Amino acid sequence: MANPIFKLNAIRGMNDILPSDISYWHYLENKFRALAARYGYEEIRTPIVEVTPLFIRSIGEATDIVEKETYTFNDRNGDSLTLRPEGTAGTVRAGIEHGLFYHQTQKLWYMGPVFRHERPQKGRYRQFYQIGVEAFGMGGPDIDIELLLMTWRLWQEIGLSEGLILHINTLGLPEERQAYQSVLVDYFEKNFSALDEDSQRRLKKNALRILDSKNPAMKSLLDNAPSIQAFMGEESKHHFETIQQALKKAGIPFQVNPRLVRGLDYYCHTVFEWVTDALGAQGAVCAGGRYDKLVEQMGGESTPAVGFAMGMERLILLLQQQSVVLENKVNVYLMSVGEKARTEALFFAETLRSALPLLTIANYCGAGNIKAQFKKADKSGAKIALILGDEEVEQGTVTLKYLREDKPQVSVARDQIIKFLS
Ligand code: ATP
Ligand code: MG
Repeated sequence: MANPIFKLNAIRGMNDILPSDISYWHYLENKFRALAARYGYEEIRTPIVEVTPLFIRSIGEATDIVEKETYTFNDRNGDSLTLRPEGTAGTVRAGIEHGLFYHQTQKLWYMGPVFRHERPQKGRYRQFYQIGVEAFGMGGPDIDIELLLMTWRLWQEIGLSEGLILHINTLGLPEERQAYQSVLVDYFEKNFSALDEDSQRRLKKNALRILDSKNPAMKSLLDNAPSIQAFMGEESKHHFETIQQALKKAGIPFQVNPRLVRGLDYYCHTVFEWVTDALGAQGAVCAGGRYDKLVEQMGGESTPAVGFAMGMERLILLLQQQSVVLENKVNVYLMSVGEKARTEALFFAETLRSALPLLTIANYCGAGNIKAQFKKADKSGAKIALILGDEEVEQGTVTLKYLREDKPQVSVARDQIIKFLS
């Protein structure tokens, strides 16, 4: 007998996704996959583990992610590796490595797990899933707009558009951001004692990130900070203005949020976040922006780029909260009574599956009586039950019973049933 010394559990913050929830995952995945195809975006799959310097160089040393959230370890060769905390770095690495950015544009998407060592709570986990989109080689505002239209369409198609609002901001060109940053540093230096410890440390490394702080004690300090808008030149203003015009035209609810800077080093021009107030502090469901310098910074040709990533768990929490009801999976539940019928049911189910590939045919397996089988059929959500008993076996028929409608049961010849069901 096994010695029950300790119980083996999943790692804190890393979730099992159980069959009772999986239909939400499939729903989101399928909706997104179809949408990406309709916009002409192609999927890319990159490894979950990459060399550590990839993330340090792309995301930036003084970020929450790199400072305290990565899962980093030495493998058996002594190489430092990191579980990816986001998808952009790997996508850029792969694009450079395979020459995808050379004299061509790319519209890419990905889906998969990412890892961050954060304090687990509702909507915040240590392994979570992201769907991301990255577009390379296009510097104008049109592609930023396309990405925003795409997210908006997704919310509409999955029934979440009511509860979401878009926050946008511009970080402008690097020199504009720089000019703003020095004014911001002055402001924070004058108010040094009002900064929390993290922010005091960040003041030297990257003052912009202080604006990202969620510490309520610093709220009024941040609300009164100088705004980045005043530092924008003509080009940046035009880029940002074009986007806002398009959002208005499309009827997308948005709000300019001058404090939105995003936690990563690589952004310029447009940054945005889709937020909800239905998930407490975990209100961001999708976030992204433009990162024109990243490809070059990582050793590729200069390539403008823009992208976003959404957190699948948070979207699924919203779907469940808003009682988005998903269709039942089982269409027909097949039951059998008696030894002979049990075997015959297996093959009868095969015949049905061959003839009706769009239906889900669940066949009862086991030795339960008819009452137990009815219970299972009911729980499966199927609308129709088919019953094979001794009599049906002998006569080549099957009994059809409606599980959700008040209609009498009928006996149907087995070679007629396919016509009946289709
Ligand atoms: P937050 O401010 O909530 O920490 P973030 O700015 O760190 O989010 P991004 O790096 O922009 O998040 O990641 C994109 C999306 O991934 C977020 O908008 C969110 O929906 C989701 N996400 C981020 N961190 C987590 C997490 N630990 N658990 C679940 N989802 C997450
Ligand atoms: Mg975070």
